[in-house]
This record gives sequence, C-alpha cells and structure tokens, in this order.
Amino acid sequence: MNKPSILVMNAGSSSIKTALFDGALSELLRIEATGIGGAGQLEVAGKKHSLHMPDNAAALANIFETLEQHSITLDTLDGVAHRVVHGGTTLTQIQRITPEVRDEIATCIPLAPLHNPHHLAAIDAMSAAAPDLPQFASFDTAFHATIPPIAHRFALPDHPKLNGVRRYGFHGTSYASVVRTLPEQTQTLPARLLAMHLGNGASLCAILDGRSVATTMGYSPLSGLTMGTRAGEIDAGAVLRLVRMFGVDEADHLLHNASGLLGLSGLSADMRTLEAAQTPDAQFAIDHFCYWIARQAGSLVSAMGGVDAIAFTGGIGENSALIRNAITDHLQWLGSIPTYVVPTQEELYIAREAQTLI
Ligand code: ADP
Repeated sequence: MNKPSILVMNAGSSSIKTALFDGALSELLRIEATGIGGAGQLEVAGKKHSLHMPDNAAALANIFETLEQHSITLDTLDGVAHRVVHGGTTLTQIQRITPEVRDEIATCIPLAPLHNPHHLAAIDAMSAAAPDLPQFASFDTAFHATIPPIAHRFALPDHPKLNGVRRYGFHGTSYASVVRTLPEQTQTLPARLLAMHLGNGASLCAILDGRSVATTMGYSPLSGLTMGTRAGEIDAGAVLRLVRMFGVDEADHLLHNASGLLGLSGLSADMRTLEAAQTPDAQFAIDHFCYWIARQAGSLVSAMGGVDAIAFTGGIGENSALIRNAITDHLQWLGSIPTYVVPTQEELYIAREAQTLI
C-alpha cells in the first residue's frame, strides 16, 4: 500500500463513513460504520459484517482499530478532512480546524441540529486520539456561497432575530465535484448547467459558469424535491397547521422521516424497491418524484436564462435510467439538451481540497 496521506470522514447520526487516500489521491481503503445504535454493520473495503456499535464513539473506536489492523497509525497521516454539513454564512471554504473554526461550526448547530453535533463529536474524538494531526473541514453549504441575495433571501423583514434565516443550499461538495469532473466528458464546462443530485436526499442546482446561482434546498435540507423520507417543498401555512395539530416534535418527524417516497408509497423510501414493486402507490410516488423535479427544474432554468446541459449524479441519478428518462421526457419542452451521468466523488473532492492546505 502506498503511504496513506488523508483520511476523509463523514460522521452522521447513525453512520460514520471514511475513505483513505494516498498523496497522489488514489483511494486506498474505505471503512463505513452504518446502523449505529441499532443493527450495526462495519464495511471494510467492500466486505460487510454485523457489529453492534451502541454509539458513535464505539463506531469510531472500531474504525481506528480497523486502521491499525491495516498498519495505519493516525500519527503518520498528513491530515483528516471532515465533511461538515453547515458552515453558515462565514465558513465558505475549506478550513484548517482551529479552536476558532471549531467554535464557528458549533455556532452553526441551530442551523443543522441533526448534523453538525455529530461532525463536532468526530472532530473532538480525533483530536483526543491524535492531538498533533491536522484536521480540516469542508462544508456542504460552501459551493452555494455565490447565490445572490435575490435568490437566497426569504421575503421576511429585516430583524436581528431573523439573521441567518435564509436559503443556504446543500449537496455542495457533490456539485463542486460535478463541476470538476464533467469536463472529462464535455471538454469545456457547459455555461448553463442544471445539475441534479438524486439520492436519499435530493436537490437541483443551477450552475452558471461553474458557480451556483440557485438551488432547490433552502434554509434546511428539507425543502425542494420529494426525497426518500423528506417532504420537500411544502407551504409554510401547512407546516404551521401540522405543528398546531401534532406539536413540534411529531411534525418534525413527519416532515423529515415519514414523508417523501416513503410517505407517498406507504412502502419504501428506496427507489430500487419502488421500481420493482409495480403497485399503483409505488408508481404514484415515482411519478411525484419526477414531476416535481421537472417543475423545479423550470424554476432553475429560469434563474440561468436557459440551459446548455443536464448532469445527473447521486444513487438514483447515476443508476436509474428509468428515472432519468422520465425526467428528460418531462423536460422535452426545453428542446434537445445534452444529458450526462457524473458519478459523485465527494470524498475525493474533499481530499483534494484538504491537500491544497497541507
Ligand atoms: P444517500 O443520499 O444516502 O447518499 P445514495 O446517493 O446512495 O443515497 O442514493 C440512494 C438511492 O439510490 C436509493 O433510493 C436507491 O434505491 C437508489 N438507487 C441505487 N441504485 C439504483 C438503481 N440501480 N436503480 C434505481 N435506484 C437506485
């Protein structure tokens, strides 16, 4: 094995995914802990085995142990780079994690309560395990820092308490990676690119001359498209009604975990399962997903004044010709637009960004 250089880490609520790269940015090893707190699984270089991990600390300990088994000691690495969901309005580029940057990530917890605390826990565990190892943070919101105020501001009054209540956008690392790798297929980057990241979470991004100018996700990753379990676009008036009917916590659960493809189909959040099911409800969920992508696509095309190419990425975007065709059928009215499938390489992108700072 070449000398390991950068460990990319994506710590979520029930999973911690890592990818190890050498100095030439070749991927050496992937270790993923999933189902933390439940029916856990540790996947090492593609091989899965069941392993109960009560919490993220236990999962991280298993990841460190697996690295040791591969004769990789943290101290010999050049750095660890974390994917961090929310960087707010100030953290708009990759950062070396200093105490100040750590504080800033903590300040963004109210903006991403389901994500940033887990990133911070992983950063702190890493500091404890290898105090001298440089750590970096790459932000999912960063690519959208170029969205102009007219697109990111809600029509709310100017009030100090409303500071920070604006559209941010997510999946930024994925879109940045599309911008970097699409020219391998197109030679030059299309000027007006409509990018679609379609996975469990899903969004669209209008990319004008390589920069994000609009996206379907907003203040939180809940808005925009119909997703695996998230409702996507929903009238604020309807949200207020849900909160009055069920209370905040139940409404929160409904919107985040029980809606989207799962809620519509009554069957599954997983597109593969829905495609195979052939039931009317599963078909309706698929149709809803594609219809709303096309509806929102119209809005983003308008933000760019037209479109020159469409790029699909994410688990559904990369693998489902059925969904890609259904979406492009809806968009026939745009004329003949070249479409591309671009495998997402988020970890590689983060490693490359971190390397520029090492
Ligand atoms: P995440 O957003 O959690 O990273 P992924 O990008 O891996 O998720 O996407 C997961 C989704 O991709 C699931 O709905 C899964 O069913 C779907 N998917 C993966 N492969 C296929 C396929 N061959 N056909 C249709 N859907 C697929």
